[in-house]
Amino acid sequence: MARIVQKFGGTSVADVNRIKAVAARVKREVDAGHQVIVVVSAMAGTTNQLVSWVNETSKLHDAREYDSIVASGEQITAGLTALALQELGVPARSWLGWQIPIRTDDSHGKARIESIDLSEIRARAETGEVAVVAGFQGVADGERITTLGRGGSDTSAVALAAAFEAERCDIFTDVEGVYTTDPRLVSRARKLDKITYEEMLEMASQGAKVLQTRSVEMAMNHRVRVQVLSSFVDAPGTLVVDEEEIVEQQVVSGIAYSRDEAKITLAGVTDRPGVAAAIFGPLADANINVDMIVQIVSRDGTTTDMTFTVPKADAAKAVKVLENARPVLSFHELIADTKVAKISVIGVGMRSHVGVAQKMFQTLAERQINIQVISTSEIKVAVLIAEEYLELALRALHTAYGLDTA
Ligand code: ADP
Ligand code: ASP
Ligand code: MG
Repeated sequence: MARIVQKFGGTSVADVNRIKAVAARVKREVDAGHQVIVVVSAMAGTTNQLVSWVNETSKLHDAREYDSIVASGEQITAGLTALALQELGVPARSWLGWQIPIRTDDSHGKARIESIDLSEIRARAETGEVAVVAGFQGVADGERITTLGRGGSDTSAVALAAAFEAERCDIFTDVEGVYTTDPRLVSRARKLDKITYEEMLEMASQGAKVLQTRSVEMAMNHRVRVQVLSSFVDAPGTLVVDEEEIVEQQVVSGIAYSRDEAKITLAGVTDRPGVAAAIFGPLADANINVDMIVQIVSRDGTTTDMTFTVPKADAAKAVKVLENARPVLSFHELIADTKVAKISVIGVGMRSHVGVAQKMFQTLAERQINIQVISTSEIKVAVLIAEEYLELALRALHTAYGLDTA
């Protein structure tokens, strides 16, 4: 007997037939004698619809109402999955975040889980009842509903797996695992049998949405054994593991991309000590995350150009913040460009190999693709390019690093 968490994403619960298939899959584990917690997302497309209704109704909306609305998609699928299990003769009930409760902080829209009280679910699991938990949601002080950020059901699943001391946390999705890059953009992408926590964390944070970044962070901290696999086929997926478990480490394991960033350039800023703090301070105060940064000093040393990226969703706000700070910053021009994409090459093997970045620059140069900003970490090289070249660049890099399937 083992304890297992199974999470099903939006496409896996997209309609009643898919939900019945999910129930059949869960029943197999129950029949094998395992205790199971199921976590579900909303039906594919539902959360987007809910978000757009919120924005249509109120642009500067109350974040607490936003959460109450966008969390509702998971209530439907949790109830339906419980019903489908009951139809198969499996005792099951649905659980909303507040009913467990899954306690979070009060940063609505991107809340962090603080604690989970699993006592009731554990007791019922002992009797063979399956808990079907609505993913993506929790409850904050004042009993307000919170959500964990887009893609947050992954984090619900890993957090529940940690609290349940589960042997496995299976994340069922619409692809067969974690690939060397998004298989929907690069047909030659290869499925990885294993990937390290660290690489998966970097892949996720650089845009590969197959797992929410915070879920990987949590899996790493609590040593949860996460497997990513397809709910559509019966095949082993990708295991997220410790570095020691990987026998033959490639230099580059994967390539991630993001279309979610915008580039902002402040041209002709008067150069003086403290100028970076003067630019990035107000952005931080406005809760805007800055990712890549490059500074160019003018030839006479009096002015500087500062280019950086912010989330596309925050670009307009960032422009406003900087315009407001113009008297202090005294720049000539502010240019915002939302037609950019970031590509990141990732691999723990980079720590011990040189030339990874050079290969990236060379490959892009051969395709006449201009690099606008560069940033690196110990296991990553990222570049910002014009969005129109994204797919071309991805495919070229995938081939250059020897990642293509045979
Ligand atoms: P779910 O609804 O099941 O949570 P998501 O859409 O959130 O599914 O995540 C799965 C998607 O992630 C895939 O359909 C794929 O397009 C995308 N993806 C991006 N990068 C990768 C990658 N390296 N490996 C696998 N899938 C990836
Ligand atoms: N339904 C939520 C979303 O679309 C959570 C999730 O799917 O993980 O972001
Ligand atoms: Mg997802």
